[in-house]
Amino acid sequence: MSAPSQKTLDAFIACVGVKNVLTSSDDLTHYTDENRDLYKGKTPLVLKPGSTEEVSAIVKLAVETKTALVPQGGHTGHAAGGMPDESGNQIVVSMERMNRIRHIDIEGNFLIVDAGVILETIRNLADENDRLFPLSLGSQGSCQIGGNISTNAGGTAVLSYGNTREFVLGLEVVLPNGEIWNGLRSLKKDNTGYDLKNLFVGAEGTLGIITGCVIKLFPKPRGKATAFVGLNSPEHALKLLTLASRIAGNMLTTFELMPALAINCTLKHIADTRAPLADEHKWSVLAEISSIRSEEDAASTMQEILENALEDGVCEDATLAQSVDQQKALWRIREMMPIAQRQEGVSIRHDISVPINLMPEFLDRANAIIDAELPDSRRYTFGHMGDGNIHYNLMQPVGSDTDAFLAHRGEMNDLIHALVVEMGGSISAEHGIGRMKRELLAKTKDPVELKLMKSLKATLDPNNIMNPGKVI
Ligand SMILES: Cc1cc2nc3c(=O)[nH]c(=O)nc-3n(C[C@H](O)[C@H](O)[C@H](O)COP(=O)(O)OP(=O)(O)OC[C@H]3O[C@@H](n4cnc5c(N)ncnc54)[C@H](O)[C@@H]3O)c2cc1C
Repeated sequence: MSAPSQKTLDAFIACVGVKNVLTSSDDLTHYTDENRDLYKGKTPLVLKPGSTEEVSAIVKLAVETKTALVPQGGHTGHAAGGMPDESGNQIVVSMERMNRIRHIDIEGNFLIVDAGVILETIRNLADENDRLFPLSLGSQGSCQIGGNISTNAGGTAVLSYGNTREFVLGLEVVLPNGEIWNGLRSLKKDNTGYDLKNLFVGAEGTLGIITGCVIKLFPKPRGKATAFVGLNSPEHALKLLTLASRIAGNMLTTFELMPALAINCTLKHIADTRAPLADEHKWSVLAEISSIRSEEDAASTMQEILENALEDGVCEDATLAQSVDQQKALWRIREMMPIAQRQEGVSIRHDISVPINLMPEFLDRANAIIDAELPDSRRYTFGHMGDGNIHYNLMQPVGSDTDAFLAHRGEMNDLIHALVVEMGGSISAEHGIGRMKRELLAKTKDPVELKLMKSLKATLDPNNIMNPGKVI
């Protein structure tokens, strides 16, 4: 696509009003650069529409002038999906002004909001109304619900509540021809043909711009029990997960696996953290039980799990938080792990999933591959074991040359992703495809599935104006 003319840019500015447009390069950097500085994009304009009608006017103009649009939420995504490319021809549509709470229905347990509402605002609103919105991510203070839906975000409560897809009852979307699809239904049951809303969940802005949504609320837990468990191996972690699921069922809301390396780095680099257990263990698990009945119910359920685990030799040691402050302290270690990782140097990352029962085998086989190919790399392997999702990260050896280490990225990615595909897993468990994994998707996705995805994209967006260059 060629550079939009000044006349075209002026017409885009008129869609939202000049005060809702950014043009100066200083203002634009926040919107154009990948949030971890992996890529630097360019745009002539950031448009900030304030209503669905304004979004529709922008898209209609984009079709008319063959201009590419990049929908953007909080810009916290990890796949470079919400940034423009380097051409300087793509216009960013930031949803930050679309931040209205449209309706809250406490009896019906749902909320209707604009797509630009910040996730934390939704969580707080649910809480104030004695409800829970379970989606919880490290970026919740700045990511938007529209971005969460577009990436089908995961987070720390997937085990019990599912991914974002499970929370979406209805959507309002501006389609790539500018038409507004009002699918803001709050129905639990609607068996009237194709489930169109699910096309847009996880589409990373390639099929339309989400402007509003109906999301589910859940009963607020009355009690939580949070434990930090030391154990010897991922096999033992799997046994603990099986035991905890048998005793707690859906009450088990968190099951995060962490190696000693990640815990030690976090204790070293992050203020106000301290080792939860007296001795170091090869692996640890952060587990949480939520009860909609009471604190006692949560605590006694967790106690039963830990007693059984210690008795059966599944775990080596465990501590159960005795206060909300102690719970927060245990969570802080897990939540700060990615930040501590960056303090130690660069990493070759993999956000993968495999069937949960195969996680120990995956880790053994992946480690054997890396032992042979890049033996000095440090395995900073942590994540949502309860969802079969691990961040299999290889950290550079202490004092090593950064560029020389990163030169292995392509080769290591190929080896680990080949193993993931062989084991029936996914090369992107929760961070999506965006621009970063587009080629990888083409290499690893089933050809029939990929063809179907491309034909859906061509049907909905024949002019390829909606976030081109992302996903496929
Ligand atoms: C500290 C930290 C922790 C994180 N933890 C997790 C985690 O545990 N689990 C997880 O899944 N992710 C996690 N993420 C990644 C990220 O926060 C999520 O993917 C989040 O859902 C992105 O929301 P956003 O509003 O920032 O979207 P953006 O980054 O702005 O956009 C993401 C994609 O969605 C599209 N998009 C955004 N808004 C719209 C819209 N209204 N309509 C159509 N398309 C749109 C964009 O074009 C882009 O392709 C984390 C990020 C950080 C920084």
